[in-house]
Amino acid sequence: MAETADVVIIGGGVQGASLAFHLTEKGVKPMVLERRFVAAEATGRSSGLVRMHYDVELDARLAWISFQYFRNWSERVGGDCGFTRTGFLQFIKPEYASALKANVAMHQRIGIPTFVVTSDDVHRLSPMMKIDDIEVAAYEPESGYADPSATAQSFMDAARRKGAVLHQDCMVKAIQIHSGRVIGVETSQGVFNAPVIVNAAGAWAADVARMAGLDIPVNTWEHDTMFIRRPKELSIGHPTVIDDMLDMYFRPETGGLTLVGLEDNNPIGKPPDSFIDRAKPGYIERAIDRICQRIPGLDQGSWHSDHGGFDGITPDERAILGQAGPEGFYLQCGFSGTGFKTAPAIGACMAELIVDGAVHTLDITPFSLKRFSEGKMLTGDHSYDSAWH
Ligand SMILES: Cc1cc2nc3c(=O)[nH]c(=O)nc-3n(C[C@H](O)[C@H](O)[C@H](O)COP(=O)(O)OP(=O)(O)OC[C@H]3O[C@@H](n4cnc5c(N)ncnc54)[C@H](O)[C@@H]3O)c2cc1C
Repeated sequence: MAETADVVIIGGGVQGASLAFHLTEKGVKPMVLERRFVAAEATGRSSGLVRMHYDVELDARLAWISFQYFRNWSERVGGDCGFTRTGFLQFIKPEYASALKANVAMHQRIGIPTFVVTSDDVHRLSPMMKIDDIEVAAYEPESGYADPSATAQSFMDAARRKGAVLHQDCMVKAIQIHSGRVIGVETSQGVFNAPVIVNAAGAWAADVARMAGLDIPVNTWEHDTMFIRRPKELSIGHPTVIDDMLDMYFRPETGGLTLVGLEDNNPIGKPPDSFIDRAKPGYIERAIDRICQRIPGLDQGSWHSDHGGFDGITPDERAILGQAGPEGFYLQCGFSGTGFKTAPAIGACMAELIVDGAVHTLDITPFSLKRFSEGKMLTGDHSYDSAWH
């Protein structure tokens, strides 16, 4: 007879793992089905930035709630998420200075420790950066980065200690529906029954939604990153920075490394099973040129490694959360390149929605699928350029 679970979660990335953890906290026993292994895709490739600076208040709130997990991980979840506090700086183009100030005011209202700093302040924080193009920036002294694979794995370990089941190397091939509601899945390891099925399949979310007869506007987004080894003179490190002036972000990594990601030239719509063990040709040269404009001393650094990854992306570059399609089918996808840092809060909200029928942590209804048909795409009141042009 087929195994039965309270909830089947398709996808063992940080989002599926966070949901599994939060469901078990509510006494529910989920089953996570992962076609490869935990954190094999976007999560394992993620740059792991943990910051709260968003132009949409809901995103900032999700990141702020999640931050309470990252900084108390061993007590809240168990294990280690590798959170490293570096301080975070958001650089913007000069024409967005007033938008930045409005966003920082919004963040402060929520309770996030952040303030506006001048270029002199930035220089004092990190003298290695050349910042003659920066007038003001947002600073979050508590923020930094975490280890996405360790985060997902410790969520999953904690969930399994409380009764969650994990099947790896388990590809979901079809979703069974009877009288308008989901009843189970067909997989490479057989059939599993469940009255609730959650699509946390990352860049494959549109394929999984189609198995439930649902079309969702989740495309694929490909993103490369590289690590550069800093020369000895720069061994002290630097803050984590999103640098809209130069269309990039960077952060320190242990072992004297700096991770660099570029915000431009991230292809949309490529098959997510493409080769991603290395960054695309030309990426390393562009990334080195860009980071050396900001940290000139890195021209004495050396290439360490590079890779790429895929995430699902939506038209407004915000997640899709909530019930949609057949009864019992839920979406937790479309994270558009920023779904690591918010995974703890999103897992909590989705568990409340599934088990209690309502979300108490935060109202996530603006993230529903129907916002696209209703013309209610999510945008910030004070937005900067689109991130992933
Ligand atoms: C290079 C890169 C850097 C990033 N940097 C950051 C960052 O600094 N900060 C941040 O907040 N976010 C960042 N992101 C985004 C973040 O990593 C993702 O939004 C997040 O990891 C999404 O988690 P997920 O669980 O939804 O997806 P994934 O981790 O991709 O997990 C989905 C899983 O579903 C599985 N799956 C798919 N189809 C099936 C099927 N049919 N059956 C079974 N399993 C299936 C896949 O194998 C996969 O493991 C980055 C993303 C990339 C690619």
